[in-house]
Amino acid sequence: MNKAPWSAEKAFKKTAKHLLFFAVSFLIGNIFFSYLIGTDQLLKIITEPPSQHLAGLGAMLGFSAVFYGVFAFMREQVCTTICPYGRLQGVLLDRESIVVAYDHQRGEARGLFRKGESREEANKGDCIDCHACVNVCPTGIDIRNGTQLECVNCTACIDACDHMMVATGQPTGLIRFASEAEIADKRTFRWTTRMKAYTAVLVVLIGALLAVVLTRSDVETTVLRTPGLLFQRQPDGRISNLYTYKLVNKTNKGMPIHFELMDHSGELNLVGGPPVLERASMAEGELFIILDKGQMDGYNTLLKVGVFTGSKQIATISTSFVGPMKKSTP
Ligand code: SF4
Ligand code: SF4
Repeated sequence: MNKAPWSAEKAFKKTAKHLLFFAVSFLIGNIFFSYLIGTDQLLKIITEPPSQHLAGLGAMLGFSAVFYGVFAFMREQVCTTICPYGRLQGVLLDRESIVVAYDHQRGEARGLFRKGESREEANKGDCIDCHACVNVCPTGIDIRNGTQLECVNCTACIDACDHMMVATGQPTGLIRFASEAEIADKRTFRWTTRMKAYTAVLVVLIGALLAVVLTRSDVETTVLRTPGLLFQRQPDGRISNLYTYKLVNKTNKGMPIHFELMDHSGELNLVGGPPVLERASMAEGELFIILDKGQMDGYNTLLKVGVFTGSKQIATISTSFVGPMKKSTP
């Protein structure tokens, strides 16, 4: 159609195609954007007047334009020239790596198919040189020339070649997942030291990811002594310290929060009352901790503060409490 002269039908089809491409790109752009700013914020940008979210709207259109450009014009150029995956993978490959490979031992010498001809007697390999594998390749390579950077392992050439093998009454698998060593040396798959090392690295990475995900707390809390302030003397002689706290709720449900001193029997007073932590949000505030002098271990006392929602303890924070230096006795 690209080569056909312009007509009403061509204009209609091209416009419809690009409108559809943009619609899909807009959808993908929005989903990608929501990954960065959250669905609530995205919903606000969509539902509130555009004048209130000019930057967000610009970013949303920018993402959509990038996806549209990739989808409508760049396509496999992204795989072959921009995406670092192919280059990285090339570094990891060796003769033993399983890749989409053409069995050159079996396929060569390639020669056109002639009905009723014995390919063995004609000194021909199994490749009938039909170019089906090249024609279907989205990155336009000829896999018969060996593993190439541009191959995205889509396996379209495997299906195309198998189809030709069936049509010509030959065994399938002329192009298949195999290593160069398997094909050239005609031996079976070997699990090499390099593969074992990669597997070990992968297991460690998956283990670390699982550990991070499984041990992830629902609420992240920090309690820090307010900078620039040391301690205050209360009228009754007790000592107080002022702290700022910050709570981040990573869950989708709101929760009331209160704090308790865990290993000291002092007083903990929240400035402005206990916070209610809304879903997926953050709360900040200040609190006082007041201790008797007898409960302090000199200038610096280590404290544990428990963070609770209802009767459930969700975190324990360690912090320090400062007071006056003890006078040394002669
Ligand atoms: S696997 Fe896909 S990209 Fe690779 S050579 Fe075959 S058709 Fe091309
Ligand atoms: S599809 Fe198979 S038979 Fe046809 S050219 Fe490619 S490798 Fe040869």
